[in-house]
Amino acid sequence: MNILILGSGGREHALAWAVKQNPKTDRLIVAPGNTGIARVAECASLDILDGAAVVAFCEENAIDFVIVGPEAPLAAGVADAARAAGLLTFGPSAAAARLEASKAFTKEICDACNAPTAGYARFTDAAAAKEYIRATGAPLVVKADGLAAGKGVIMGMTEAEALAGIDEIFGGAFGAAGAEVVIEEFMAGEEASFFILCDGVNALPIGTAQDHKRVGDGDTGPNTGGMGAYSPAPVLTDAIQKQAMDEIVLPTIAEMARRGTPYQGVLYAGLMIENGRSRLVEYNCRFGDPECQVLMMRLGAQALDLLLACAEGRLDRAQVTWAEDHALTVVMAAKGYPGSYEKGSVIKGLGRLPEDSRHMCFHAGTAEKDGQIVANGGRVLNITARGNDLAEARNRAYAMIDHLSWPEGFCRSDIGWRAL
Ligand code: ATP
Repeated sequence: MNILILGSGGREHALAWAVKQNPKTDRLIVAPGNTGIARVAECASLDILDGAAVVAFCEENAIDFVIVGPEAPLAAGVADAARAAGLLTFGPSAAAARLEASKAFTKEICDACNAPTAGYARFTDAAAAKEYIRATGAPLVVKADGLAAGKGVIMGMTEAEALAGIDEIFGGAFGAAGAEVVIEEFMAGEEASFFILCDGVNALPIGTAQDHKRVGDGDTGPNTGGMGAYSPAPVLTDAIQKQAMDEIVLPTIAEMARRGTPYQGVLYAGLMIENGRSRLVEYNCRFGDPECQVLMMRLGAQALDLLLACAEGRLDRAQVTWAEDHALTVVMAAKGYPGSYEKGSVIKGLGRLPEDSRHMCFHAGTAEKDGQIVANGGRVLNITARGNDLAEARNRAYAMIDHLSWPEGFCRSDIGWRAL
């Protein structure tokens, strides 16, 4: 079959790498793709936020299956447009993607189905929000309702920080995403990510992961899009996964179906684990980046069969074949990230990296210039490895990094420390 993947990051490189290995794949196109993706798929330029353009592209290229990678096209209704045109599509409708696009909406769903999550209050008025903060007291978490690329969450460990968060959000720092504020109870515990495929009715867990958001070793410094990840996450034991399915995921899916907006795609549940139980922090309606890289490394070719079963509504008959393995990815970023950084520095040694079912270098932000690979973003490479245990996966990933010569880049040296 002919497959189109929408997106251009390390996540989409990992999806393309896995899909390409499946014998069902004839032609694989990624739009817009990137330099690394171009080695496993055709890359095409296309406005992936424009549903009509995506449908027209699929018709011209006889595409049988569309996989939507990032959240922006989902929130823009690209999956709706593709499905309406009769295309087999992986990714939720814009209505179902509100589980990521609106934090207030997710809280409403949790209330309706009694899913455990932090207590909260919603405000559209700064004075009322501040009065609530003063009455409740810190710690609190102050969030812009809409999509803010991970930056719309302010940890109010003191009352002053929480109040400043209100000024920031209602002051317009996040535009329309900050028209409403959600103030949450602070949850203590350890965070982990749980990935579940949903076909509107059935749900199939496909793995767990943990990521490292802070830029520096020991989880210090400013937040980033993610500096590394590993799978599985030992903190998400079988018992906690079952509790999360029974109390959070399955009730959410049932509630979404009851409202006439069934959820179809991957549901990424961010969970806080404390005292052997999980509570929902947030939902995302797509794979995490870089969590997808470790999940794809573990799933390999079967990923396509699972995504197809999801899109075709037959997850009740699908199952995951697990190897007893672990995967870990280290993000290499341009020095200065997540602040300002230079583009264009040359990365040498990529040709020396092993690339097989145990080692992959997924490209996140690279470009080709005069026959050389150069950095073209903040997060640039995802050095990913598999092993029989996490230590082996980690050692393989860092051994790959030793082959590279890129003085303008850096990575954390302690990815996986929590689990090791
Ligand atoms: P991202 O895109 O980075 O996941 P987001 O904008 O979708 O972020 P959330 O996931 O809701 O926002 O919050 C970001 C982070 O803030 C969480 O991963 C978690 O570490 C922390 N956080 C959010 N809500 C709470 C809470 N109620 N208690 C404790 N920590 C929280």
